[in-house]
Amino acid sequence: MSTNAMRTAIAAVLLVVSAATVGKISLQTATNETGFRLAGERIRFDASARPEFTEGQIMYSAEATRSGLVKWAATPRGRRMILRFNGAEYSVTIREDGHGVGAGSAPQPALATLAAATDHTKTKAYDLILNPTFTLPRGAIPFSSGEPSTPADMMAAAWAAEMLHIDFYARGISLPHHLRPDFQSEWHVMATELGFPYLPHEDEPERPPREWRTIRTRR
Ligand SMILES: [Zn+2]
Repeated sequence: MSTNAMRTAIAAVLLVVSAATVGKISLQTATNETGFRLAGERIRFDASARPEFTEGQIMYSAEATRSGLVKWAATPRGRRMILRFNGAEYSVTIREDGHGVGAGSAPQPALATLAAATDHTKTKAYDLILNPTFTLPRGAIPFSSGEPSTPADMMAAAWAAEMLHIDFYARGISLPHHLRPDFQSEWHVMATELGFPYLPHEDEPERPPREWRTIRTRR
């Protein structure tokens, strides 16, 4: 085979490989782009909304992130919210950020996403950022029981807190949320279901979007 012929053959092989790769990627995107996504894959849930993680998710995400989701998914509100956001209308991408100032955040989506709240044919995409290394400052809650005491507890609270923001976005409600009585009462129900009835959900006054500064000292 001449050098030129060999080059052509190699190029043809590369072309086939890349076409196959592209086909695979677009197929994955087409089938997996809705629901909850962790470590690049859709999270699977069983009929009772209990997550079943893939090997890749177990390898490439923090244990606290996953066990926090398991814990939150076992609460009535958590289960209901998971089943709703796991549908075709939503896409929630979980990102881990160990350098965040709080336990998590849920950045406000683009205005078009907020405005599409009532358009059930459009997929609304949200980011949920979790900091699995976050620990609550000592004495942050003035009660000895009913506070998150493990990283899994903390992440369960962060899942609940940030998904509540996303739930409000999905209703077309932009920030700020923390001062709303409906937000606070829904948070209280969710936090109580998790076993943390005194866990506040607030931030420093007038602090814009990147939040959850949230779980903070109660004043
Ligand atoms: Zn918040």
